[in-house]
Amino acid sequence: MLNQVLKVKGVSSGYGKVTILRDICFQVAEKEVVAIIGSNGAGKTTLLKTISNLVPATDGDIVFQGKDIVKYHPHIISQLGIAHVQEGGKLFVNMSVYENLLMGTYNNRKHFQKEILDEIYQIFPVLKKRENQLAGTLSGGEKQMLAIGRGLASRPTFLMLDEPSLGLAPKLVDEIYYKLSILKEKGLTILLIEQNINYALQFVERAYVLENGKIVMEGKSSELLKSEHIKRHYLGL
Ligand code: ATP
Repeated sequence: MLNQVLKVKGVSSGYGKVTILRDICFQVAEKEVVAIIGSNGAGKTTLLKTISNLVPATDGDIVFQGKDIVKYHPHIISQLGIAHVQEGGKLFVNMSVYENLLMGTYNNRKHFQKEILDEIYQIFPVLKKRENQLAGTLSGGEKQMLAIGRGLASRPTFLMLDEPSLGLAPKLVDEIYYKLSILKEKGLTILLIEQNINYALQFVERAYVLENGKIVMEGKSSELLKSEHIKRHYLGL
């Protein structure tokens, strides 16, 4: 029996009176790497924000490691071990790379900070090289690495990534996914949302397809890649 880390059960959410997500159900097991795929505006970002409670759920339960976190403050959710790397990274552009990473370590005691930063620099050596540079002056790929690095600085057990390939040239997307594969090998549980379905399905074991705020398909990546619906609507085949 797989140890389910996250269980999303019948969740709905939206903005004001507008409902975006309806009756969303999915789960992620320990050390699993799962994607939510879907086109522009399907509700992928809203889904991660609902798990972090940046957008409150109007219905349903979100159970993380056995606790219903649906009403928890985002800050507490982060302390429980969920890191949410938002679209575009949400970096502090006028602060250095080092300061951005340091901000990410706030859940941990001071004497761990150097150890945590060293671990991040091992995965992303370019961040060590750019330690004193302002985050706003980094290249697109470096910004994405910093955003992921800052997510890791809280020492999460569960990493949620919002479109890590967004706006990057294919070579950089390859590099980001290579870095993510290192995290996968280290045993981190990852929930990834992506518009770039080719990349996502090559990286994850399982995925859910979100369309107009509803999950319409789920399966192993290998099966989804063979699906006529996926081929026609997402891969242009
Ligand atoms: P994209 O890949 O373009 O970011 P997405 O699948 O992540 O798409 P969301 O960003 O979750 O989709 O948006 C889903 C819907 O919610 C869209 O119709 C969008 O216009 C709407 N929406 C998103 N943010 C807000 C907001 N702050 N207020 C009102 N509506 C919003």
